[in-house]
Amino acid sequence: PTAMREIFLETPKVRWSDIGGLAEVKQALTEVIERPLKITDIMAASNLKPQKGVLLYGPPGCSKTLTAQAIATSSGLNFIAVKGAELNSMYVGESERAVREVFRKARAAAPSIIFFDKIDAIGGGRDSAIRGLHVLTTLLNEMDGIESLNGVLVLAATNKPEALDTALLRPGRFDSLWYVEPPNQETRKEIFGMQTRNVRLAGDVDLDQLAEQTEGYSGAEIVSICQKAAQANVRRYMALTSEGKEFVGAAITMADYQAAVEKTV
Ligand code: ATP
Repeated sequence: PTAMREIFLETPKVRWSDIGGLAEVKQALTEVIERPLKITDIMAASNLKPQKGVLLYGPPGCSKTLTAQAIATSSGLNFIAVKGAELNSMYVGESERAVREVFRKARAAAPSIIFFDKIDAIGGGRDSAIRGLHVLTTLLNEMDGIESLNGVLVLAATNKPEALDTALLRPGRFDSLWYVEPPNQETRKEIFGMQTRNVRLAGDVDLDQLAEQTEGYSGAEIVSICQKAAQANVRRYMALTSEGKEFVGAAITMADYQAAVEKTV
């Protein structure tokens, strides 16, 4: 029963347009995942099996989870998210049961996507822990058991692809690998733009400059910078109004952003 709590069906509401950059990955995933669902007859008549397992890899905070959710939203598939660490924290035997339960639910909800976030936590090599091995074996058995046309796709994400057991990467398992890269300057500007779309900005705020200054920052860090800058503005408002003064202008300034960039490393 405790394992059950970890399993829930959700319908994400993330659109491709919520994700900055990654044009190639977006298009490729749409082709690999969505198109086969729309042409099942010709696929079957050609003895062509749709992809079973797709692995997204790349540094933390750079939209692997967002991408998985956008796939589910745009394809209209049911979505079951499982966190590797949650499976690991269960009692012996319980995590294997949970994995089987996830696949059972996914088959019942087909066409559907199972998303294993941080899959390295469970698929991290055969010599990790004995129980780790059992969870991995269960996962491999379940993946081998999915009949290819019955509409369950297994998506997974990891920051440590090199730590994955090679058995996971064999043909028919996670054999479609996609690098979800950190945002380049153009994408960073796009993310700053998304985050400030409905925000009152001071005239000196220069998104190009911010994008240039945040080389090496993840998408998640850029979101955090925007939050911190906004908080500074709210603090100013609180300070002024508590003194009974009027808060004129009420806009986030370039200095707010720059201070936030320095606080976010
Ligand atoms: P982790 O490996 O740590 O699980 P992740 O790669 O799965 O990270 P996400 O959870 O998808 O990262 O992204 C974290 C947050 O960062 C998102 O919710 C979003 O707010 C922001 N973000 C990251 N990349 C982008 C992007 N390209 N466009 C817009 N927002 C982004």
